Amino acid sequence: MSDAHAFIALDSAACTSCLVCARECPDWCIHIEQHSETLAGDGRPRTVKLLDSFVIDWSSCMFCGICIEVCPYDALSWAPKPVVAESTRAGLAYGISELADPKMDDEG
Ligand code: SF4
Ligand code: SF4
Repeated sequence: MSDAHAFIALDSAACTSCLVCARECPDWCIHIEQHSETLAGDGRPRTVKLLDSFVIDWSSCMFCGICIEVCPYDALSWAPKPVVAESTRAGLAYGISELADPKMDDEG
């Protein structure tokens, strides 16, 4: 049970770069970069936000789960994988690939 709340996974395909999680995180440990693109279609062109980078800084995270609760698109979830100890703060900043759902990535 303790493992289940040890890691937050990001489904980057579900993330719309809305920034809600970053704004609501009490420790400001989610950092998102995105850009807008206008898509031309059959109807009116529409502007969408595209995710460039999404980083959780585990050195500040207190595992409160607020980011998971507030995400309107269920793009964040608890995952049963511990964050690996690092000797540098930079090593505790996980990006999109490291935050991918680790169920398929059991390094033992
Ligand atoms: S669990 Fe809490 S502290 Fe950690 S990234 Fe989410 S909102 Fe921020
Ligand atoms: S709240 Fe959800 S959809 Fe919005 S930026 Fe965060 S992870 Fe992505």
